[in-house]
Amino acid sequence: MAHGTSLRKIALVGIGKIARDQHVPALRASPDWELAATVSRSGTVEGVEAHRDFDAFLAARPDIEVISLCLPPQPRFDYARKALMARRHVMLEKPPGQTLAEVQALQRLAATQGVTLYTSWHSRMAAGVAAAKSRLVERVVQGVRITWKEDVRKWHPGQDWVFEPGGMGVMDPGINALSILTEILPEPVHLVSAELEFPENRDTPIAARLDFTGNVGAVFDWRQEGPQSWDIEIETNKGAIALRDGGARLELDGTPAPLPEHPGEYPALYARMAELVAKGESDVDLAPMIHVADAMTLGRRLRVAPFEF
Ligand code: NAP
Repeated sequence: MAHGTSLRKIALVGIGKIARDQHVPALRASPDWELAATVSRSGTVEGVEAHRDFDAFLAARPDIEVISLCLPPQPRFDYARKALMARRHVMLEKPPGQTLAEVQALQRLAATQGVTLYTSWHSRMAAGVAAAKSRLVERVVQGVRITWKEDVRKWHPGQDWVFEPGGMGVMDPGINALSILTEILPEPVHLVSAELEFPENRDTPIAARLDFTGNVGAVFDWRQEGPQSWDIEIETNKGAIALRDGGARLELDGTPAPLPEHPGEYPALYARMAELVAKGESDVDLAPMIHVADAMTLGRRLRVAPFEF
């Protein structure tokens, strides 16, 4: 796919699980990007120039104008701020920060510096999401049930940061569902109550129940062994719509709907980043994270059994 001269150089920072699983393959196959360097304290990518120190990288490679940060949210702000100060375009993994104000600060800085900031939400790029959104435009939504249940040991093996302050706990996967919800609903909703289950030895929730206006409800659970559930079921005045497998499949009244050929979530994110940089625009959307922050503000806290990986 990739061919020569028009490729724009990009650096990937934080070579861990998601960088290896998704970012590196997406960049290697991209018609827009050349993975020109990595920055990580220990991780490297075969055949790609590797840096350990971000300041040294910024000084050494001013020709790399675009930086994609796949670090956990806790260290990400400092890296993003340095990159923007050095007038590089920045793409952020989800969630875009630990706090809303952090991301707003980055948004202001990007505008001042005249560079692109993209708060990516990979689940919005899932194959069925655009099709679900276009169908909802002409319907009245009567209710939504989100079921997001997965096994944290499988998807975040040994990653203690998810249970540390700023790691969001089960909201880390749950925010993917909320990123789809906020993308497809014709009218916004807001949280009215929540229950959050905190393991007694951890600082972030392992399960949550969220109730929103508009008869919208969500159940998130990180203790799901066996089959995993990533479902959004929507009742409308013209029948049922369901997104399954994290948005990869669409059902209309229980019947699978054909979907157009799809590049994959991360190739689609990098195509969007290429478009934003080319146009000199930013794309910063905090809507999914506002719901998480509201749940943390409004949620009733329940203590549950301790959790160890
Ligand atoms: P991870 O593997 O635990 O961390 C990514 C890399 O960041 C690590 O390998 C580490 O590389 C670096 N890092 C970690 N803590 C750091 C610190 N305090 N300071 C500097 N560098 C640090 O995490 P991940 O699963 O890839 O997740 C990263 C982000 O992607 C999260 O926001 C997550 O929500 C999102 N995401 C994850 C998944 C998934 O399936 N895991 C899916 C979609 C999105 P070095 O030790 O080499 O520096």
